[in-house]
Amino acid sequence: MNILVCGGAGYIGSHMVRWLRARDVDVTALDNLSTGHRAAVGDCRLIEADLLDPTALDRAFASDRFDTVMHFCACSLVGESVLKPLDYYQNNVVGTLNLLQAMGRHGVARLVFSSTAAVFGNPVTERIDESHPKAPINPYGASKLMVERILQDAAAASGLRSVTLRYFNAAGASPDGAIGEAHDPETHLIPNVIAAVRAGGNAPLRIFGDDWPTPDGTCVRDYVHVDDLAQAHWQALTYMDRHPGAHAFNLGNGCGFSVKEVVQAVERVSGQVVPFEVAPRRAGDPAVLVAASDRARAELGWRPAYTQLDDIIATAWCWHCDPGFGPREA
Ligand code: UDP
Repeated sequence: MNILVCGGAGYIGSHMVRWLRARDVDVTALDNLSTGHRAAVGDCRLIEADLLDPTALDRAFASDRFDTVMHFCACSLVGESVLKPLDYYQNNVVGTLNLLQAMGRHGVARLVFSSTAAVFGNPVTERIDESHPKAPINPYGASKLMVERILQDAAAASGLRSVTLRYFNAAGASPDGAIGEAHDPETHLIPNVIAAVRAGGNAPLRIFGDDWPTPDGTCVRDYVHVDDLAQAHWQALTYMDRHPGAHAFNLGNGCGFSVKEVVQAVERVSGQVVPFEVAPRRAGDPAVLVAASDRARAELGWRPAYTQLDDIIATAWCWHCDPGFGPREA
């Protein structure tokens, strides 16, 4: 196997690179380093290129014989997507089209694609399975759903094999503390809760709304460990061997936790109080997103190792508390 991991220097992509290398797979990371970190890929080969640059993509594909692409590159912030929709469609849709066209030119016909729970919009069932209506309520989810459609059409027209994995809320860090979540600015809940603890009251967590239609008024999400996402990508490779066409799986633990419950979990893990204040709702947020991942379990054989929120948070806490916290830039 020889895999090109696009977005390999980003949060989820870098955990994937480590997962594959631990299994002796040939891996090349490709990243424009706009949000990713060179240090996060370690000594893996890294091609610095942008999906919006077809010539750079041709050079990347000409440099090796890849049999599969894993595609993690994306703008992925719900709130930002509402403010900058055109950037999201450009990066996520046009960038992916460029990638697919380059794959076609270079005879690479297998793709694992990162999608999101945001393709579903507001849930109409308690847990969201693959048959749930797809009605995104923000440009981020809409951009990912457009790519899902493109993959179906490409499968029918040219035989492109793909597995789309819809992550619910990716969280945690590698248990050895080597890599973790390092966005700048950080917008995600768990790192922001940890940052609020570490700031000791100087920069309280802002909870975006406590008037949502949920039991405690704060948004409910399904947190899934980043290494469990990597496991599903690994299983998708063998699934694609047996299944032509375009397939999609939802990945989550099936348990919803409110923002306030995440705050309490960080307090349990850290043994410290989380200072917080309530701020207005964030545009584009659905109130509740919880996965039904029965299909991934049945068909991929996916077995998440981190089923407890506290265990997921503990890996993030350890990484953030490491004195060398953050990506060590090479
Ligand atoms: N959230 C919050 N304060 C923060 C960051 C996030 O209240 O500093 C809320 C956010 O509104 C959402 C949930 O936490 O309801 C998870 O947000 P995150 O950005 O981590 O992931 P998303 O669900 O947007 O993918």
